[in-house]
Amino acid sequence: MARFEPRSLADGKKLSKNRLLDVNLRFPHGGGSFAQPITVLKGVGSAVSRRAARLGINTVGDLLEYPPFRHDDFSVQRGLGQIAIGEEATVLVEVRSCKVRPTRRRSLKLLECEVSDDTGTVKATWFNQAYLAEQLTPGVKILVRGKLDKGRGGLTLNVLSHELVSNADDEDVQGMHTLGLIPVYPSTEGLTTRKLRQMVWQVRKLAPQAIDPIPAYLLKKLELPRRGDALDAIHYPASRNEAATARRRLAFEELFIQQLAVATRKRDRQKQTKAVNLGRRDKFVRRWLVSLPFELTADQETAIGDLDEYLESENAMQALLMGEVGSGKTVVALHAMLRAIESGGQAALMAPTETLANQHFQTIDSLTGGLMQVGQLTGSTSERRRRELLAGMRDGSVKLVVGTHALIQDDILFDDLRLAVVDEQHRFGVEQRTALDDKGRGDLVPHRLHMTATPIPRTLAMTAYGDLDSIVLHQLPKGRKTVKTWLVPEQKRAGAYDFIRERLRQGRQCYIICPLVEESRQMEAKAVAEERERLTKGELRDFRVEAMHGQMSSKQKRSAMAGFSSGDVDVLVATSVVEVGVDVPNAAVIVIEKAERYGISQLHQLRGRIGRGSHESFCMLFAEPSSEEARRRLEAVVATQDGFELAEVDLQVRGEGEVLGTRQSGMPDMRFARMPHDQRLLVEARALAGSVLDKDEDLERAEHFILRMMVQQRLEEQRSVALAA
Ligand code: ADP
Ligand code: MG
Repeated sequence: MARFEPRSLADGKKLSKNRLLDVNLRFPHGGGSFAQPITVLKGVGSAVSRRAARLGINTVGDLLEYPPFRHDDFSVQRGLGQIAIGEEATVLVEVRSCKVRPTRRRSLKLLECEVSDDTGTVKATWFNQAYLAEQLTPGVKILVRGKLDKGRGGLTLNVLSHELVSNADDEDVQGMHTLGLIPVYPSTEGLTTRKLRQMVWQVRKLAPQAIDPIPAYLLKKLELPRRGDALDAIHYPASRNEAATARRRLAFEELFIQQLAVATRKRDRQKQTKAVNLGRRDKFVRRWLVSLPFELTADQETAIGDLDEYLESENAMQALLMGEVGSGKTVVALHAMLRAIESGGQAALMAPTETLANQHFQTIDSLTGGLMQVGQLTGSTSERRRRELLAGMRDGSVKLVVGTHALIQDDILFDDLRLAVVDEQHRFGVEQRTALDDKGRGDLVPHRLHMTATPIPRTLAMTAYGDLDSIVLHQLPKGRKTVKTWLVPEQKRAGAYDFIRERLRQGRQCYIICPLVEESRQMEAKAVAEERERLTKGELRDFRVEAMHGQMSSKQKRSAMAGFSSGDVDVLVATSVVEVGVDVPNAAVIVIEKAERYGISQLHQLRGRIGRGSHESFCMLFAEPSSEEARRRLEAVVATQDGFELAEVDLQVRGEGEVLGTRQSGMPDMRFARMPHDQRLLVEARALAGSVLDKDEDLERAEHFILRMMVQQRLEEQRSVALAA
């Protein structure tokens, strides 16, 4: 009987028993040889492995998946005789002779070797590496990366890096630092890119063992290389093209798995959470729409139409409504709330601060035109009023409530809550955000609508928020003015106050935003009080200046705000945290002190306070940017008022993870995909994920087996992140 001799599919070599035991059968990221700690490698002890851990490299697999950020091209292009003086090049040469020479400085020794190839001979020099003389004996072949100089004694090649190649069997040193496209890795203290190369070089041979989660039929369709080949080629590609393809392939895999996870999560959620189908829009809401004092923008119309579709379903809606400050989100939300009420249920809107809740209350109150009673519940609602409201919410007589976190206390019960709107949801904790979900009738949850004025880049909308239905209001209602934005250096401060006084005399109002003090709200409040004092005595002494900050009681805040809204107060000195949503159309100037301390989106939000009426509006950024990054941020804000464009710039300046905090970004361990660079790949991955799931909902087919494990692992990770957040 013939003996069965297993051979490797990867390289056709016979598999020894040891190699068989080594084979990575269990999982691409775990098990088998990929799971070995890097200490199995030559030259990696506990010190190196500790440093590598800082880069997220613990195992052999991690190392293979650690991408270089660029490749240097060290191809041998010419012979010695063809290199120009001053040029840096890689050459393959043979050692003729070698000698160590002392230099004038006693500590410094020079190693000089005569080296040659078919085209010439030069003197190659190494500093302080006299010990090399032992290796560089005549006849030895070396690859040398160096720079050609003309010295006193003729041409010299100053060696930057070299490797022995004479020992052709030793594959461990075949140009890992000098020949071809050489990877350059993000390094850390005590772990150089050179050391990383030596480590990667040792594990390259394992790359073909990588198990591929992407089924062969998809690879073929997308013309992408196999995982194993890609893992090798990201390090030592044969060409730049190959490097790009390899990275693309691995990025696709990440995005594809992520999109499968997002889609799966959405489907599971829809299966578990059922809501009341709100049916069709009826007379009550139609009449209300007609009664609005303005015409809806096309975006608002579309948004309302989209929401109608989601609301006419038993699948609980989970939608995200994005739109610039002033784009009219409240009307859209109110429409949905009235739909809930028309269907016989109740609706609630929760805002992150009391001022915002007040603002919404007023907008909603005026837009419903006394059609119904609107309840308002915040921390400063009197106990008696609160009791009344709670009773009304419980028996269903109060149909619509607006409030703050006060709405999610345990003792708050609704008769039949069918729609929950959460404004600026990122300012709530995870639990707070979802607390309203539990307040539906019985097992049903309310339909949910999140609103945000922070434009989320498209890429993030598809990833971190990929399981939400996102709706965007791009346009601003007619008549909204653009805001002129200036960067004002300190020496122009006096001139700026001249300008402000002129506008104030014309009857406009002005916000002055005091510097952000992250560490201390008290200090921030103090700064506001002092600045008000200073301006009242100084530059703005002819005007009425009020202060508003987070340390004031809500009564004080309300009265300051009321004074500003009514026009009694000309200038409001405030902190940035106080109030994002305030709407005073007559305010036409905003000054932001120490603007370099703010992020792009904060500046954009603050600027959104003005330009809300019919007046020409101005934003002055007092700033002294000290870093390149701060300068880019400020310049972007000056250059455009398009929030989505700014969000993209923000993404580029800060990198994906930080825009919403790494944890929220949903891209915690993307090693290969880069946003917004890979946006198109993401769109492709999303579409493919959809079509794969259409055919194989639970990824049960054999060819999807590994994929399914990866998706499940991803969902697990996200679950634990959500719990930890
Ligand atoms: P935001 O998106 O910042 O929440 P709001 O919904 O508060 O904006 O709307 C800002 C103001 O614009 C409100 O006073 C609102 O009544 C008004 N508004 C909303 N939509 C329109 C429209 N289509 N035309 C004119 N004014 C509108
Ligand atoms: Mg708003």
